[in-house]
Amino acid sequence: MNLQGPKTKALYQQATKVMPYGVNSHFRYWGPDDTLVITRGQGAYIWDADGKRYIDYRLGFGPVILGHSYPAVAQKVQEAAANGTIFAWTTPGEITLAERIIRMCKVDKVRLTNTGTEATMHSLRVARAFTGREKFIKFEGHYHGMADYLNFSTASAEKGQLGSRRSPHSAPMSSGIPRQIADYVITLPFNDVERLEETVHARWGELAAIVFEPMMGNAAGILPKPGYLQKIRELCDQYGIVMIMDEVKTGFRIANGGAQEYFGVQADLVTYAKALGNGHPVAAIAGKEAVMMNIKPGEVAYGGTYIGNSIGVAAANATLEVLENEPVIETINRRGQTLMDGIAEILTRFDLPHVISGLPGMFGFKLGSTHESTDFRDYLDGDAELYEAIAMELSRRGVQPDSDGREPWFLCYSLSEADVAETLNVFNDAVASVKAMH
Ligand code: PMP
Repeated sequence: MNLQGPKTKALYQQATKVMPYGVNSHFRYWGPDDTLVITRGQGAYIWDADGKRYIDYRLGFGPVILGHSYPAVAQKVQEAAANGTIFAWTTPGEITLAERIIRMCKVDKVRLTNTGTEATMHSLRVARAFTGREKFIKFEGHYHGMADYLNFSTASAEKGQLGSRRSPHSAPMSSGIPRQIADYVITLPFNDVERLEETVHARWGELAAIVFEPMMGNAAGILPKPGYLQKIRELCDQYGIVMIMDEVKTGFRIANGGAQEYFGVQADLVTYAKALGNGHPVAAIAGKEAVMMNIKPGEVAYGGTYIGNSIGVAAANATLEVLENEPVIETINRRGQTLMDGIAEILTRFDLPHVISGLPGMFGFKLGSTHESTDFRDYLDGDAELYEAIAMELSRRGVQPDSDGREPWFLCYSLSEADVAETLNVFNDAVASVKAMH
């Protein structure tokens, strides 16, 4: 496609000399001619090194719930930076933030951390310590960060790696993960009550936790079937298993109280990151009193030099204040619904079979099939090549979802009605142009 303009290309070439593949995270690598170098973001837009503007539907993979450099957040971050950033002591901002999270998410206690990976990593240790058991269930296509234990059969998996639905493989997503670690994880297809019940009934004595994304934030936003999350809750209660809801993508995005509020299920442990800080590094684990108070000095390890740094905490406090006082989610949902409906209408008009999935604040779609996805295997039936062709054409025309259809479209509060209208116009033209070429 060659998305890079001349200045972007030169900078990217420079980057490849000092960073493997010119990026600091593989998910940012779109190949040698399409990996961008971004110099600025404001509201719903980002600009590359050539000054080309994109309406941004990646939002840093989800965090930027209000908009890039949102003034109410940027100001608090600047003030914090002027007063020292880490002290190796508790700060008043951390207390306020924990109180806010408790109020919004109806949890009993909170511990902060820095990233989604650290949040899920800590939550798994806490669950193991609480139950005295070592194995856990996770679901195919669910991604929980870069820690080795959880890096099996995520949304990066190819169909051939997953084995049969009746006896799925736990496929490691990287070289360098010790083989024996696979013994600790039991992977199952999502939304399959029978398989889940069968596994838990047979193996509960070994199970510390069931870890899951409440909707598939790394696989086109596939939703849980009605009652499925309640079934997880029921099984965890019945067998003393810790229910870990990974809300790194859904938290403070699909409702002020996240997926727990939206789907009406309270987990034992919940992980938050992304939207919590509107793009600043801050994350949290939260949950029920008994499980959280098990994080006891000398017994269950929990720490990190940068935890509670005043930049992340100021950003989170400012972000949650806006969420609590303004119709952020409502506005995002309205715009997102218009986009979802508009995209469906255009795809239908161009006679392209499709299924839209997810919620307005984070949705996706599958092409080449009208079979609704309920798990990751279903999603992989879609036409990923066609999706990528359309997504790349969108980027070329200044509208940027991820090129990979597994990554949802994310919306921010700064996205206007006019931006949505422009997006749909561009979408129409991009589909027309890709259809003409195929
Ligand atoms: N959990 C989920 C559901 C995620 O989507 C992600 C990141 N995309 C993570 C955990 C890991 O978060 P981080 O990249 O901040 O480590």
